[in-house]
Amino acid sequence: MTDSVVTRFAPSPTGFLHIGGARTALFNWLYAKKRGGKMLLRIEDTDRERSTKEAIDAILDGLKWLELDWDDDVIYQFSRAARHREVAESLLASGRAYHCYATAEELAAMREKARAEGRTRLYDGLWRDRDPATAPSGVKPTIRLKAPQTGETVIEDQVQGRVVWQNENLDDLVLLRGDGTPTYMLAVVVDDHDMGVTHVIRGDDHLINAARQKQIYDALEWDIPNMSHIPLIHGPDGSKLSKRHGALGVDAYRAMGYLPAALRNYLVRLGWSHGDQEIFSTQEMIDAFDLPAIGRSAARFDFAKLENL
Ligand code: GLU
Repeated sequence: MTDSVVTRFAPSPTGFLHIGGARTALFNWLYAKKRGGKMLLRIEDTDRERSTKEAIDAILDGLKWLELDWDDDVIYQFSRAARHREVAESLLASGRAYHCYATAEELAAMREKARAEGRTRLYDGLWRDRDPATAPSGVKPTIRLKAPQTGETVIEDQVQGRVVWQNENLDDLVLLRGDGTPTYMLAVVVDDHDMGVTHVIRGDDHLINAARQKQIYDALEWDIPNMSHIPLIHGPDGSKLSKRHGALGVDAYRAMGYLPAALRNYLVRLGWSHGDQEIFSTQEMIDAFDLPAIGRSAARFDFAKLENL
C-alpha cells in the first residue's frame, strides 16, 4: 500500500452528471481507495460561456448522493488562469513555444487546404520561425507549442496498451488564446502536474488528447502521469449511448428510487469485470478493482438489467 496515489475527476460543468461521468468518477474513486491514495475533484470551468452554476451543483450533488467523496477542497480550474499563463510564458522563454499572429482567415484557409490534401495537421507552421517584428498590428497573438515535426509520440496506456502517433500528423497546439485564456490542453497538463496527479483515468474520447498533452509534458520536461483511457458506454444495440436508451443523468435514477449502492454496482460493471461476480459490497469493489481489468471494447448500458437490481 502506498499513500502517494492521486487520481482526479475533472468534469466540465456544462450539464447534469452523466452516467458516463459518474462511472469515470467511480473508477477514480475506487482506484484511489484501493491504493490508499486521494481523489481530487477539479471543476474544469475555463469555458466561461458554457460553464454554469447549476451544472456545478448537479455534479456535486450527484457525487454526494453516490457517496463518492473527494479529498481536499473542490478545485475550480478558472481560478488558476494566472498559473496557466505563467507556464505558457515559460515555454515561450525556453523557445518551446511561439507567438502566432495568423488571422482567422489565414487559419480557415490552412484548414481547408489541409482537408483537401487529407492531412490531419491543420496548422502549416506559418509563425513557427517568423520574426514577430513583422507581426500585423491589431492581431492579438496566440501562444503555440513548437511540436516535434518528426518521430513519434507514444502513450503507454494501462487500458489501451501502447498507442503511437506520428508527429507529422499532430499540430502545433494553441496553449494560450489571444485573450490570454488557457486552452483545455494546457490547463489540464499544468493542473495535473501541480496537483501531483499520478493516475489519469478518463474516457477514451480523450486518447488523442493524451498524445497532445504528452508533447506539452515533454516540452516542460515534466513526467506524464500514468494513463488509463476507458472505453465509452454504448447502448445495448452497440450505438453511441443516447436518450432513447434510457435516462442519462444520475439525478433521473435517484428520482426513480434507485439506491446509490445499486447504481454504483451497476456502473462498476460497465467495462470492468471480476470473474462472474455481479454484486459487490463497497469494500469488495475496492479490493477487487484494478485498471488492467478494464476491457478495451465499449461497455453496453442496458436499462433492463439495471431495473433488475
Ligand atoms: N474536463 C474534461 C471533460 O469533462 C475532462 C478532462 C480530463 O479528464 O482530462 O471531458
